[in-house]
Amino acid sequence: MKAARIGQPNFMEMIDLPVPVAGAGEVLIRVRASGICGTDIHIFRGEYLGGYPVIPGHEFAGVVEQVGSGVTRFAPGARVAVEPNIACDNCANCLQNRQNFCLNWQAVGVTRPGGMAQYVLAPEKAVFEIGDLPFEQGAFMEPLSCVLHGVERLEPQMGDQVAILGAGPIGCLLLQAVRLRGAAHVTMVDKNTDRLEMARALGADVVLDDLNALKPDHYDAVVDATGAVAVMSRAVDFTRHGGKVLLFGVPPGGKMMSVEAFPIFRKGLTILSSFTSLRNSLQAVELLRSGRIDVSKLVSHRLPLEAFQHGIELIEGGREGVMKVMVIPNA
Ligand SMILES: [Zn+2]
Ligand SMILES: [Zn+2]
Repeated sequence: MKAARIGQPNFMEMIDLPVPVAGAGEVLIRVRASGICGTDIHIFRGEYLGGYPVIPGHEFAGVVEQVGSGVTRFAPGARVAVEPNIACDNCANCLQNRQNFCLNWQAVGVTRPGGMAQYVLAPEKAVFEIGDLPFEQGAFMEPLSCVLHGVERLEPQMGDQVAILGAGPIGCLLLQAVRLRGAAHVTMVDKNTDRLEMARALGADVVLDDLNALKPDHYDAVVDATGAVAVMSRAVDFTRHGGKVLLFGVPPGGKMMSVEAFPIFRKGLTILSSFTSLRNSLQAVELLRSGRIDVSKLVSHRLPLEAFQHGIELIEGGREGVMKVMVIPNA
């Protein structure tokens, strides 16, 4: 099989490997759609957890090709997506239902071979049926799971006014999720006007192309979906007294964020973060299949496996029109 491998930071190579064999409790999946995410950029640029070489790709869907002994929920032919974070279920954090902080954490596409390959192995417990959902939409199960976890932590209240900084694919998922949780009014900010148009089509009430156009001390919740520390540090400015800040975007390692301390105290703010997800995959599939969360227009580019690095550069370039870039390994 063909795989796109990151040999070391900033170096991608195409390699040929034998198709893996499903061992006990494992499922072999033929990958049909594999999304490139900001985390892949951090891995490619050497700014994230995990080692090298690694086959990236942690947002993907495909068809079950083979099941190992003891697998009960799947048979060949099933249409599935994968929750990449694999917890041991037997450490101090897992035993307190904090599987996202598993002390023996593994992740498909981060610490284990991922979906930027024609085939990938996953343990059965990480595999979820997507029914007749198109593969590209199934590939959103993972980012949506993370968004649902973040919104569960934020606990927006019915009638809230929310500002979301960043209207990329994640911002557009956050927008829809906070509306489902009762937000009355959502303002989206992005420099990219195509993204703002998308956000408006998905239900944003106000779209702004300048962070400074947000109202100071106004929003019940401000959510950062950029991971850019310069933007994250501004979130506090726009949050109302007693409001909440959710730092959702993944910042690069090693960067400091500077925030004036007094307003956090004076405004009694709650500042939250969110790391991966916690048993949100079934919810995500239900919301995608029902259409309550619409991802059908979020894919802007479809590329062959060989073009993985080009996909990274497209996203980094941030040009108009770039939303989710999908790699199709078995085109
Ligand atoms: Zn991701
Ligand atoms: Zn664990």
